[in-house]
Amino acid sequence: MKQMYIDGKWVSAEKTFDVVNPATEEVIAKVADGGEKEVKMAIQAAKEAFPLWSKMPAKERGAILRRAEANVVAKADEIARLITEENGKPLAEAKGEVLFSSGYLSWFAEEGRRAYGETIPSPFPHKRLFTTLQPIGVVGSITPWNFPANMITRKIAPALAAGCSVVLKPAESTPLTALAIAHALHDAGVPKGVFNIVTALDPRPISAAYINDPHVKMITFTGSVAVGKLLMGQAANQIKKVALELGGNAPAIIFDDADLDKAVERLAAIKFLRVGGQSCICANRIYVQKGIYKEFLAKFLEKVKSLKVGNGHTPGVQIGPLINKKALDRVSALVDETKKKGAKVLLGGHPLDGKGFFYAPTIIEGSHDNWPIAQNEIFGPIANILSFTDELEVIARANDTIYGLAAYIFSQNLSRILRLQEALEYGFIAVNDGDGYTHEIPIGGFKESGIGREGGSAGLHEYMELKSTLINIM
Ligand code: NAD
Repeated sequence: MKQMYIDGKWVSAEKTFDVVNPATEEVIAKVADGGEKEVKMAIQAAKEAFPLWSKMPAKERGAILRRAEANVVAKADEIARLITEENGKPLAEAKGEVLFSSGYLSWFAEEGRRAYGETIPSPFPHKRLFTTLQPIGVVGSITPWNFPANMITRKIAPALAAGCSVVLKPAESTPLTALAIAHALHDAGVPKGVFNIVTALDPRPISAAYINDPHVKMITFTGSVAVGKLLMGQAANQIKKVALELGGNAPAIIFDDADLDKAVERLAAIKFLRVGGQSCICANRIYVQKGIYKEFLAKFLEKVKSLKVGNGHTPGVQIGPLINKKALDRVSALVDETKKKGAKVLLGGHPLDGKGFFYAPTIIEGSHDNWPIAQNEIFGPIANILSFTDELEVIARANDTIYGLAAYIFSQNLSRILRLQEALEYGFIAVNDGDGYTHEIPIGGFKESGIGREGGSAGLHEYMELKSTLINIM
């Protein structure tokens, strides 16, 4: 049994749950199935650890986080293999994720030292005003499976750097990566109780404990909009702070004046090469201006045809399986429904034969903006291509969704780029790029894509309370 990590110790549970390799459908591990008892132990440990950890100078906390980064980097190959086993993404992509995820540890080790307050000019001669930032307290976190390492460090690095203690429940599909990160933190000297992992098949007793225990001051969640709404509603009872990184429905807009070859290459990357399309910032609706539509489509088809699908351990594979049977069935049904409504499937459009939850890279044209394929997160290797005529039209169409996470613009016209940058209702705008974000830039959603930001310096402030002080000196 793979044990969970509570109060600096490795802890078993009465039951276990299976972790399945989505490429082979084989059970690769049995993991401790925690519940109410374990999460309460973890919250208690985090509560007891908080006073010392929060008082430790940020520079010392940062030194520990830097050691944790070094430990993750030293084990990058091993952790990448775990990711490929439990998540399915290709090994090279998994290694890239591990190295990127470790970068949050050093970024926030540094940012923690810059948690500045303000001295505010007073309107009275006898009063002094200033603000300070202090860690919010025990944080309960819940993470998804699509970036099993990065979704964890993007939360815990700022929380720990700020001086918070943390209980984390990783996704039930990918607990092994989370446990490997716990090893890296433990070996770096994170004091007992400061960081805890409760693995569980059923997330509800874990989130219920976060919600009901007044010592948990904040819940940070990355996952679907539906669960985000549920948690936000439940947190209202104690007016508990929530940070929510939720789903997306990213438009990618390619104008006639774009550098077409670069647009094709980068769009293929942001659509297909991030966990095979199972990423919150993947291009979900690809709007191509009429003048280049045919040429773009021909080049995009050629590019996508060249992508290699298979077991992530096979060298050269660029797209792995979907995470599970449920995801495969959902994607298949979405494409079938879109076909039935009259869209044309130009490539793929079906699951792949044999073991594993593989779906063929797919290109669809002729759908409509109000169909489910354009309104919902696709979360699979499906490119939905739409055409448009002019700028104002495409802005309105791109914004016509409940989501507001990421949007992509491909154009060489700076004035147009700036007009779109202002008009698009999205938290992250990428121009002529398909690589995703960096540690330095905050990430988060407008509208139903979430509340709060991760990364950048804003990511640190999420885990801190702002205290205002007024002193009468007369
Ligand atoms: P999910 O919401 O089903 O699960 C995410 C996490 O929530 C898992 O740990 C799961 O165990 C837990 N969970 C599920 N039901 C719960 C409940 N009732 N109460 C408490 N916890 C519960 O989402 P998923 O399918 O694992 O992840 C994909 C979603 O995550 C997509 O919508 C994607 O866009 C989103 N996502 C967003 C970002 C971002 O940065 N905004 C990043 C990655 C993923």
